[in-house]
Amino acid sequence: MPKSFFLFICCVFTLLKPCIGFAWAFTEDFKQGFYWGSLPISFGKFVSSPADGELLSRLTDEAQQEWENQAGKEIWSVTPGYSTNAPGGNHIRWSNNFAAETGYDPNTTLAVTVRHASGTYFSKVEIILNGGNSALRSNTNNMLKKTILHELGHTVGLDHSQQYSIMGANLSGVSALTFDDSQGINSAIDEIQYRQQIGYVSPLASESGNKTFAACGSVAFISGNDSDNDSGTKSFVLSLAMGIMLSMLIAARRQKLPISILQ
Ligand SMILES: [Zn+2]
Repeated sequence: MPKSFFLFICCVFTLLKPCIGFAWAFTEDFKQGFYWGSLPISFGKFVSSPADGELLSRLTDEAQQEWENQAGKEIWSVTPGYSTNAPGGNHIRWSNNFAAETGYDPNTTLAVTVRHASGTYFSKVEIILNGGNSALRSNTNNMLKKTILHELGHTVGLDHSQQYSIMGANLSGVSALTFDDSQGINSAIDEIQYRQQIGYVSPLASESGNKTFAACGSVAFISGNDSDNDSGTKSFVLSLAMGIMLSMLIAARRQKLPISILQ
């Protein structure tokens, strides 16, 4: 197939993508080439109050299983139960001082996922839950479960989807992972494994020091003033960019060249 025709097909797919339902996206840092050097990702659950432990532990375990059922493989190695020790390693925890700790508005933000990288690899990820939100803390209307599902998606490099899905920017009526979420997680895991196989190194990996990617990851309240009003334009632009990236990625793979489109 001529390369120009192949690119044409990719562009058509890009333009139609919002219509036919694919709207997942990768985070900017993941697109820049940062990724997990190995899977599964060790992951722990920490609480300062044992009263929070059982619920946080159970919902995290459920969320892990639901993502992994979609992916068909183990993504996180979650330590059973919970710990009341000081948090360490990759983990999820409550923050009783959410605004000061994260810089996010506690009135509109339920949680934040922070990815750290050293070299080309993610070195640590933290999910910080807004402990000042009592409805979230008690899982009212399944808020905590959906928030954990959403934030776990961010840990591997999934960004907000433009679709009505768990990875959508707003906490919505969606109660379970959608086809769009499934497409997203499988694409992310495939991309991680491909980079691992070829030993991919981000062009940005040599920048000195540890890097922290301030969480794309927040889930605004459904009544919050999020950016859905311009989602059509954003969806188009994001889809175009994703389509171009995808077509270049596939073209690079076909030529068996190291990926360079993530720069
Ligand atoms: Zn988010």
